[in-house]
Amino acid sequence: MRWIVCIKQVPDTTEIRIDSRTNNLVREGIASIMNPYDCHALEAALQLRDQHGGQVTVVTMGPSQAEECLRDALAMGADEAVLLSDPAFRGADTLATSYTLAAAIRRLAPVQLIFCGKQAIDGDTAQVGPELAEWLGLPHIAGVEYLVVKANNITARREAESEYYLVEANLPALVTISRTMNEPRLPSVWGRLRANRTPITVWTGEDLDIDPNRIGLAGSPTRVKRIFYPQHQRQTQIRQGNAEQLSNWLVKTLAEERLL
Ligand SMILES: Cc1cc2nc3c(=O)[nH]c(=O)nc-3n(C[C@H](O)[C@H](O)[C@H](O)COP(=O)(O)OP(=O)(O)OC[C@H]3O[C@@H](n4cnc5c(N)ncnc54)[C@H](O)[C@@H]3O)c2cc1C
Repeated sequence: MRWIVCIKQVPDTTEIRIDSRTNNLVREGIASIMNPYDCHALEAALQLRDQHGGQVTVVTMGPSQAEECLRDALAMGADEAVLLSDPAFRGADTLATSYTLAAAIRRLAPVQLIFCGKQAIDGDTAQVGPELAEWLGLPHIAGVEYLVVKANNITARREAESEYYLVEANLPALVTISRTMNEPRLPSVWGRLRANRTPITVWTGEDLDIDPNRIGLAGSPTRVKRIFYPQHQRQTQIRQGNAEQLSNWLVKTLAEERLL
């Protein structure tokens, strides 16, 4: 029984800087970490493995340095790790990323349940999980904060704005995990030692059954026209008057700004 967790290495910062000349993220001098949502996805998979048996396999697509976050996952308790790394994967948007991940997961079949984080803190699209499920032809449940697996079935509670949904699906399936689901465990010293000794499987495009036109830049229909910081402007106004005058002014101003 295999539990797959897709993890992404992201810059360890809440302040994303953009190179105004190239429109790329500035990554120099910024440490990298496992996407925080993926830590929760991994914790969920480890708990299910401990209850039901099987093995947890972590998969990432990225440059060779992405091996660091795979080692962190091994230190937390994952059983094996696969790095998808090939210059041909560069420039992938979410469609090409999910296509490549799907090809790797097909090679790892049979799988029980695939876990993704709900979103990555850098790209932030929350598209890779659902797209991956579509490539694999599997049911998916997004934004899961609680789940139970029984035999060939999963019941999950997924978050919504002011309510929640209970959703059932047959396995194999894919879930994307919310940060409210659990508290990820910390790696133990023993886990770190084991992680450093565990070999990491590296697959390039040649190891996967893929169409070269669907990977990397060639397989990425997204075109970024421009990236810019939103302008934060403060135009404070101090108004005086009684409650009726002030509320009339507020309604008029909001209507003029087309906010009502
Ligand atoms: C035209 C274009 C070119 C790009 N070129 C590059 C580039 O050269 N290098 C680069 O790093 N980024 C590049 N990107 C960004 C890249 O598309 C995204 O990093 C990637 O597709 C994931 O999207 P996201 O960050 O929104 O993830 P989300 O969809 O928000 O992530 C959700 C979950 O999907 C899983 N996941 C996401 N990405 C991966 C991954 N790589 N491996 C395993 N699991 C994953 C994780 O579980 C994650 O929590 C490019 C984007 C565009 C539009």
